[in-house]
Amino acid sequence: MNKKIAIILAFAVAVCSIFTSGCAGVKVRTFYALDTSIKITAYNCTDEIIDSMVERVNSFDAIFNIYNKDSEIYKLNQEGRLEEASETLVSVLSQSLNYASMTEGAFDPTIGAVSMLWDFENGTVPKDEDIQSALKTVDYKNVAISGKRIILKNGAKLDLGAVVKGYAVGNIASRLKLDGIKRATLDFGGTVYVFGEKSIKVGIQTPFGKAGEISAEIAAAGQTVVATSGNYQRYFDKDGKRYHHILDPKTGYPVNNGLQSVSVIGSTAAMDDAFSTALFVLGREKATELINRVKGMQAVFISDDDTMYHTSGLEYDGNYTFTIKQNG
Ligand code: ADP
Ligand code: MG
Repeated sequence: MNKKIAIILAFAVAVCSIFTSGCAGVKVRTFYALDTSIKITAYNCTDEIIDSMVERVNSFDAIFNIYNKDSEIYKLNQEGRLEEASETLVSVLSQSLNYASMTEGAFDPTIGAVSMLWDFENGTVPKDEDIQSALKTVDYKNVAISGKRIILKNGAKLDLGAVVKGYAVGNIASRLKLDGIKRATLDFGGTVYVFGEKSIKVGIQTPFGKAGEISAEIAAAGQTVVATSGNYQRYFDKDGKRYHHILDPKTGYPVNNGLQSVSVIGSTAAMDDAFSTALFVLGREKATELINRVKGMQAVFISDDDTMYHTSGLEYDGNYTFTIKQNG
């Protein structure tokens, strides 16, 4: 075979194999898990890799879904103890206890007894006496972990909904990187993890705007997590009052402190997610104090009158875009 033909043939084979293995370009997968809609966009990826990520996310769902009778957390909540908890549950729970202590209980993973009283689909306000008795069980110090054993004291019930999407998105990002993926955007119901591009922009959703309508963008480099908690994500109106899904662990009622959303910009995913909830509960002033003590984390607040505020490690161009200061 002459050399020119051989080269053309080799090129054709290479191109074909790229298309048949599905390696070329970008893979996008959207699915529902962890009580939210999830979108994985990965570049130079295969269907096999994406399939295994979906399976992995579903396996987290089987651990953390408090309404699924077969889940590990359901059993733990029912029985108050587990002797052989999975490594994943032990790990996420112990991280959560740490975040609870850092936020002085503004994020509290034992909010379960209270959060399960609130039904945002049907829009019913629980009886105050039920809230008061459930509140007695809410205290992250009611959780004891020793090895694989988890004990919930004083009737405490877990709800890890405020941290699990962050944990999952961080875990999937690490797995993708281990599988050789160099660039991806992972959106787990408002907790977004991007990595790989020189310049990455992540939008901050406009509260009560259309899906995808954004109020600002975070421009970052390399690897960034943007985790948003807002009162517009899950709520209902009743008798002229709005009730939403971010609860004050001290009162058992939705937090009402002048904020519509808090977006945390960080790189640790699980912590960013837990903190987005905690900062919302704390309110802008206390949240800013707390974030100033935490390394590598910034926040954008959108108040009830649509004003945007941000922490000192971010720079705003006055128009639309936030950038992270080098030494922020
Ligand atoms: P989303 O789940 O919409 O992204 P969050 O990350 O803020 O929003 O998590 C809110 C969920 O966390 C609620 O649906 C509830 O299950 C739980 N939760 C609500 N308030 C708290 C709190 N103060 N501490 C811990 N978990 C909370
Ligand atoms: Mg959260």
